[in-house]
Amino acid sequence: MIKVENLSKSFGDNEVLSNVNMQIEKGEVIAIIGPSGCGKSTFIRTLNQLEEATSGAIYVDGEDITAKGVDINDVRRRVGMVFQHFNLFPHLTIKKNLTLAPVKLGIMSESEADAKAVELLERVGLSDKADAYPDSLSGGQKQRIAIARTLAMNPEVILFDEPTSALDPEMVGEVLSLMKELADDGMTMVVVTHEMGFAKEVADRVMFFDEKGIKEEGTPAEIFNFPQSQRLKDFLSKVL
Ligand code: ADP
Ligand code: MG
Repeated sequence: MIKVENLSKSFGDNEVLSNVNMQIEKGEVIAIIGPSGCGKSTFIRTLNQLEEATSGAIYVDGEDITAKGVDINDVRRRVGMVFQHFNLFPHLTIKKNLTLAPVKLGIMSESEADAKAVELLERVGLSDKADAYPDSLSGGQKQRIAIARTLAMNPEVILFDEPTSALDPEMVGEVLSLMKELADDGMTMVVVTHEMGFAKEVADRVMFFDEKGIKEEGTPAEIFNFPQSQRLKDFLSKVL
């Protein structure tokens, strides 16, 4: 579903990613772990062109999304993103948060988007919040709405950038279980996370990022039980 070839990304003189290669199959759940500042966010942001690659190619279902003339709105519809800080529109109701983009981009009519919003609110267990504003929701509820908003676009893959890092501990579980449900339903997902339990239980593959790219990858059992590099061993000794 996604193929990354020789992806490099620099900010000025700072080369953050150097020749990253990876592939994600349809229905796979990839967990990305690694120390702060090593380029995990930059990497997944290039996957939906929130960041432009300095060089290399990214294919989504065979189409190079780094090519000139690519429809960026279409890329972002197909490759959804859930952020650490939710990024809901504060001045819009929850329902409007879900319907705005699909209607604006001409993917759905107003009534189709409304029906989809009702269905998604039910799916994330927040039907009673349709007319509420984001500020009246808890962090966990906001993140479930942010996930619903991404689902409203019928994405082919969803990228999550530390989706539970801004939450109070008691709200982490509700968001992780929703993500697990999506994974069980076959959604293709790339999740940057510090939740090692989630990575172990839900991910099909784990990628360990360190300076400039992927340093080690494997099944959760390989990564957590048989880490090869000293860098990964050191990292795990700090987070486990
Ligand atoms: P991580 O998500 O792993 O913590 P990031 O991808 O956020 O790491 O950052 C990797 C490096 O890229 C850091 O050195 C950071 O300062 C730098 N960086 C990230 N975004 C920008 C930007 N928009 N402009 C300049 N430097 C950036
Ligand atoms: Mg980050």
